[in-house]
Amino acid sequence: MNHKTLGLVLASIALLVPALRAQSTEQPLDLARDKQVVADAAAAMGGRDRILAVKTLVVQGGGHDLNVGQSLRYDELGLQSDVWQIRDYKRTYDLANTRARFEVVRASQYPYYQGVGAERVVQGLDGDVAFNVAGNGNATRVFGGQAVGRRAEYLRHPLTLVRAALDPSAKLANGRTQGAERLVDITSGGVTLTLAINSSTRLPSRIIQMTDSPTMGDTAVEASFGEYSVVNGLQLPARITTRTDRWPSADVRILTQSVDADAGNLAAPANVRSAAPGAPPAPPMTTARKIAKGLWYVEGTTHKSLLAEFSDHMLLIEAPNDERVRAVLAKAKELRPNKPVTTLLVTHHHGDHTGGVRLAVANGITEIITHRSNVTYVNDVLSRPHTINPDDLAKKGNVKLPKITAVDDTGVLRDSTMTVNMYHIRDNSHADSMLMLYFPGGKILTQPDIYMPNDARNVIEGEPLGHAPWLQNLAGNITLRKLDVEYHAPIHGDYVTNKQFLDSLIFMTQFVPGGKATN
Ligand SMILES: [Zn+2]
Repeated sequence: MNHKTLGLVLASIALLVPALRAQSTEQPLDLARDKQVVADAAAAMGGRDRILAVKTLVVQGGGHDLNVGQSLRYDELGLQSDVWQIRDYKRTYDLANTRARFEVVRASQYPYYQGVGAERVVQGLDGDVAFNVAGNGNATRVFGGQAVGRRAEYLRHPLTLVRAALDPSAKLANGRTQGAERLVDITSGGVTLTLAINSSTRLPSRIIQMTDSPTMGDTAVEASFGEYSVVNGLQLPARITTRTDRWPSADVRILTQSVDADAGNLAAPANVRSAAPGAPPAPPMTTARKIAKGLWYVEGTTHKSLLAEFSDHMLLIEAPNDERVRAVLAKAKELRPNKPVTTLLVTHHHGDHTGGVRLAVANGITEIITHRSNVTYVNDVLSRPHTINPDDLAKKGNVKLPKITAVDDTGVLRDSTMTVNMYHIRDNSHADSMLMLYFPGGKILTQPDIYMPNDARNVIEGEPLGHAPWLQNLAGNITLRKLDVEYHAPIHGDYVTNKQFLDSLIFMTQFVPGGKATN
């Protein structure tokens, strides 16, 4: 995991727009019903004309959000462990030109960051041109899912969505009543969102977006609006709470908001507007380094995998994403064409370590081994619907799901040719679901995310100790298990000697910017 990308986890749940639900067969009566939901919302908020006359909206506030995908454990409490403070939250909308600027400072409240390393994020939108603004003011255009996501973010507010829905180009569909709400699907500028209004007050209560996640499949991202008050003739919410599927993922309180204040110039800079998408990066070279008898360290991207050879099958360690699973399975076929890869070991439940689990299962994995706390998660990954973006497993239909073998404190995989010892990593604040692996054949230790040798991500701006506290934790776990480690084959970082680990542990040489390990 890369801490600098943590903040993007929620945003990066692939924002694929669901197939338009607007049906050409909708009857005039249905259309009238759809339009009525929007008309009622507009009336409750201050009236259609008032909404269409708004030039700008500026909202400011603060709160917190939660990285549900990078949690301590896959349970209610664990999923709320990775908390970030949101401050200097400012969203400026230029409704006349469909432009916006979203600014926020996010600071981790994560157990060992304790509020340092706050990062300012500035995002822009100008029509369908989305861009990010760096600390030095340089703007870079973003494309694809990020651009669609930005457009959805623009519409994720009652004022912008209702206004978009009033435009004749918007497609409305599926007006319906559910409980105490009336709902309608609104498609505007290629994005489909569902607006829910309170049946009594007629004010927008929720905006729901169906998104796709490689692990969790069809995932509703739902913003709820409360504490409405009148601002310049408009009813606007002062509290926005967000859920990602069934988990709370953000809570923002709006402290000040103004309508038709000077929003400044939100236009995309000319160089951003004219920027073209870059060529897709060349696929990484995948190499399999033999590090012991029957054991390969497969490199190519930031996430390494390992292949271990047993007498009649191969074990795949780590399935971070589809690209890696494809590359590593191809490498296995090259190395041992006659031994099927039937077993997958998952080191922990985080999305960047499990994004390829479904593809691995679609390609013949019959057993998944993981820590007991991940069993529910793996079951969910395998069984949740993936209808928005059907993957290989979804397309195959009736695939026999693999057996899931749970490891508690320790476990071992052994036959006449290979031994893999598995240990729960105790008391690490990154995740409570991690396994470390020891291969006695080569005195090699494998672990995820804790020790990332020679990896720049060990140096964290504003955090002088970098990952040092986790190294101390890993050293403690190695001592506890009485392991005779000579080499480290980590999921992130380089294959190194234990001497380098000890150097880093004692001197933290690699954590000093520009510093170097001594061997
Ligand atoms: Zn992780």
